[in-house]
Amino acid sequence: MKPSLFALGIATALMASVAAYAQPSSVKPMTFPVTQGKTYKFEKVAEGVYYATGGFGSNNVVIVNDNDVMLVDTGTTPGNTRRFVEDVKMLTNKPIKYVVNTHFHFDHTDGNQVFGPDVQIIGQEYLAKAINPGILNREPYQTSTGAVLQTQMDDLKKQVADEKDAAKKAALNKQLAGAQQMQAELKELKPTPPNKTYKDKLVIQSGSREIDLLWLGHGHTEGDTVVYLPKEKIVATGDLMESRLAYMGDAIFDEWIDTLDRLKKLDFNVVLPGHGIPFGDKKLIDAYQDYLQDVIVKGNELKRSGTSVEDAAKTIDLTSHAKDFPQITGKGADLRGMRRLYAWLTERGGG
Ligand SMILES: [Zn+2]
Repeated sequence: MKPSLFALGIATALMASVAAYAQPSSVKPMTFPVTQGKTYKFEKVAEGVYYATGGFGSNNVVIVNDNDVMLVDTGTTPGNTRRFVEDVKMLTNKPIKYVVNTHFHFDHTDGNQVFGPDVQIIGQEYLAKAINPGILNREPYQTSTGAVLQTQMDDLKKQVADEKDAAKKAALNKQLAGAQQMQAELKELKPTPPNKTYKDKLVIQSGSREIDLLWLGHGHTEGDTVVYLPKEKIVATGDLMESRLAYMGDAIFDEWIDTLDRLKKLDFNVVLPGHGIPFGDKKLIDAYQDYLQDVIVKGNELKRSGTSVEDAAKTIDLTSHAKDFPQITGKGADLRGMRRLYAWLTERGGG
């Protein structure tokens, strides 16, 4: 499953490098003042709080405090994170003191190595073991990198050769160049875990800024951190809550729904997700909880009826959620998520 998780990241990163906002969404876009860096676009959500998009991997957040800076998530390659740090200098010359990893997935953490020991890299305690090579599931990322990327690139090369439309050809060539750059940049990758961890809650008071790092329970992964700014009423959710469907390959399904209940209890007006676009309407969280519940119920029925996981991924009917998540265009769901669901149902004694 893990090599395909890597593929997801590549696909995500390529999409992000071409058109971060082109994915279908039911969310009404929020508009903020924009600063365009060389690589990243920064949207000023509040004084000193910026939503950053356009690099390889996750969307990030920059929080400029009175005397220092916090970055939320890094990206898919060390090179990408260096470009991020360069672009942040357009916003402020204050030093980066904190980096928060919202969870262990490589598209949020594989730039960690560019920071020196003077920078606190903070994550929930689960990340310390999840990111160490050879422990849990980090190793396959590294061994599969070349093969997965190469397959993607071969595929893109074929598409470029077959494409007649000049504009589409140019867009595909841009994706190919991005994949080649990523392949080169991954050669120096050293998975780097946080150097500071917490269990349930860590409050950082930096000058007049209060930043709460909260573990609200299992969900997208075991160690998801929510970054909450109580005064500004902003919450950065990583992939625990995106504006679109999130990857489910490491999900703890039932607890995810409960964790989102706890998220909704926070007082906020803006959600800055790890992928997708900012949104303000808590109804999208309700809709995502309904989706997850439906995945559990329908997945359980399919498993009990003896349907193979491959067939379940093709036939599960989640189309009633397409109004909230327009990337659902027909029956079926991501196979990696369905594999995880079947395994989880077995762990729980269901199906
Ligand atoms: Zn993730």
